[in-house]
Amino acid sequence: MSALRPAIGIDIGGTKTVVAVVESTGRIRSRVEFATHSSRGFVACLTELIAAIRAGSREAAVADGQLCGIGIGCAGPVNPSLGTIHNPYTLPGWDDADIVTPLREAFHLPVRLENDADTAAIGEDRWGAGRGASPLLMVTLGTGIGGALLINGKIYRGLNNDHPELGHIAVRPDGPDCYCGTRGCWESIASGSAIAAAGKQFGFADSRAVFAAVSSNENAAAIVQQAIEATASALWTLIHAYFPQRIVLGGGIGVEHFDRFSAVLRPYITRATQLPKNSGVEIVKAALGKDAGVIGAAGFAFPELSSP
Ligand SMILES: [Zn+2]
Repeated sequence: MSALRPAIGIDIGGTKTVVAVVESTGRIRSRVEFATHSSRGFVACLTELIAAIRAGSREAAVADGQLCGIGIGCAGPVNPSLGTIHNPYTLPGWDDADIVTPLREAFHLPVRLENDADTAAIGEDRWGAGRGASPLLMVTLGTGIGGALLINGKIYRGLNNDHPELGHIAVRPDGPDCYCGTRGCWESIASGSAIAAAGKQFGFADSRAVFAAVSSNENAAAIVQQAIEATASALWTLIHAYFPQRIVLGGGIGVEHFDRFSAVLRPYITRATQLPKNSGVEIVKAALGKDAGVIGAAGFAFPELSSP
C-alpha cells in the first residue's frame, strides 16, 4: 500500500467543499476548503474546484503525473456510472451536472464520483472506526442525513446501482413534510437543516445555536431531543433490517454531538430482544471525523480499492 501514489479526494457538501491530497495510508497531505455556494452555477464552482485541486497539489508538492486519480464524494442523488450530480435540494443550480468529464480532461487522471455517505463509509472502513467490522453501517448526520451499508468492505447498492437513501426512513407519521414525498422521515427531523428550521421559530440562527442552548433553553432541548429520538427510531429499523456488527456515527453533527446521541442510543438498543444473542451492536464515533468523506473519496481512486 505504501508504494501507491497519493490521490485527490473531494468532498462536496451543500455548504462547503473540501479538496485533499490523500496518501494510500489515509493520511491527508494537504487540505483546501471553500464554501460551495452551488447557486452560483456549476461552471463557477467547477472553476474554483479545479483551482483548489491545483493549490492542494502545489502545497503537497505533487505533480498531476504523480497522482493515481481523483475520487469525489458528493451529497446525493448522484449517478456514479454517468458521473453526474442530480441534487436540487442541497446543491441547487447544478442540475444533472457532469463533474467527471471536465476533471478528467483537466488533470488527465481517472475520476470517480460516488455518494458522500458511501465515501465516508469507505474512509471509516479502510482507515477509521469501521476497520474489521462487517456488516458495517455508516451514518452521516450533517446538513442532511445519509447512510451506507458495507458488507465485507463492499458497498450495498440498490436497483441500477443507485445509493439507497437511508435518511428518508419514516420515523414519525405526524412529522414535518419532507421533499422526498412523505412526512416525518429521519432527515426531516434530525438533520442540521431540520434542526435549524425548527430552531428558527424560536429565534435561533442555525443548528449550532440550537445545540449551544440545549442546557439553558427548553425549546432548544426539545428540538435536540426529537432529533435524538428520530435517530434512535431510524437506527432501530436499520439494526433489525441488517444486523450490523458496528454502526459508525459521522457527519458534522454526528461527530460533534456523538456523546449526547450515543448516551441515548446505546441503552435504547440494548432493549432489542430480536437481535442475535451476544451480538451487541457497537455504536462508535467516526474516527476520521469530518474528513471521513474526503479520505474515503480518495480511497476510490487507489487502484486496488477501485471496486468497493
Ligand atoms: Zn424524506
